[in-house]
Amino acid sequence: MPSLETELDRARELSVDDLADAIESIGFECTRCGACCTSHGEDEHTATVFPDEVRELQAAAAAGDSADATGSDTAESDTTAEARDWRDVARPMPYGLTEGEDGPEGETFEWALQTDGCGDCVFYAEDDAGVGACTAHDDRPLICRTYPFSVALDGTSQPMGEAVDEAGVVRAHECEGLGRDISRADAEALAAALKERAVRELEEAIDVRDAYAPVDTGAGEVVVHDSEGAKRPDGTQLSD
Ligand code: SF4
Repeated sequence: MPSLETELDRARELSVDDLADAIESIGFECTRCGACCTSHGEDEHTATVFPDEVRELQAAAAAGDSADATGSDTAESDTTAEARDWRDVARPMPYGLTEGEDGPEGETFEWALQTDGCGDCVFYAEDDAGVGACTAHDDRPLICRTYPFSVALDGTSQPMGEAVDEAGVVRAHECEGLGRDISRADAEALAAALKERAVRELEEAIDVRDAYAPVDTGAGEVVVHDSEGAKRPDGTQLSD
C-alpha cells in the first residue's frame, strides 16, 4: 500500500481538466432529493468535516440565524457567531468508538457533521412542499460540495454508498443525479473542489498520524484526534 505522502503527491498532481473530463463523461446534476443529507434506515447521516470547516459552519450558521431573526446582517450576528456551540455543528465520528454503559467511548480520528433527532444533517431542511435544501449551502464542507464523487487514492474518504461508476481516477457513488448533463463550467468547479478535498484529506491524515499519542479514555469518555491535536467532543483541546 502506498504511503500517505505518496498519495498526497499524486493528489497534488491531479489535473483539474482530466477530473472535469471524467465528471462530464459520467454526468451529474443535483435533483435535491436530499438522500446525501439524510439518514438511511437505522444509519445516521455521516459525513466528514475538517476542524476549520466546523468553525466556518459555526460562524455561518450563527450569522444566518441572526440575519433571519433581525432581517439584517449587523454586528449582532458577530456576537451570536461567537456563541455558536461546536457541538451544534459537529460530533465525534462514531467509527472506532464502542458502546459503554454511559454511552459511546474511546478514541476516534475525525469529526462528522452533527445530526438532528431524525439522524439527518442538522443543516438539512425541507420546505412545506417537502423540497429539501442545505441551509449552509455557501459554507458547506468539501465532502458535500463534491458529492457523489471521490478519487481513487488511498487515505481519501469515500462517501456513503457503493461506487457505481468510474472514469480514470474519479469514482461516482450511488446518487439519482448521476448520468445527467453537466456544463463544462460546473464540471470544472466540481473537479477543482474534488482535487482540493483529496489534498486536504491526505494532509489531515498525515497530521493526525504524526500528532497521535494514545489517550487512556475512561468510561463514557470520547477523544477526537484531529490535525490540531486531541480534543473533547465539545471541540476543546484535551490539554487545556
Ligand atoms: S451541510 Fe448541507 S449539503 Fe452537507 S450534508 Fe448537511 S445539509 Fe447536506
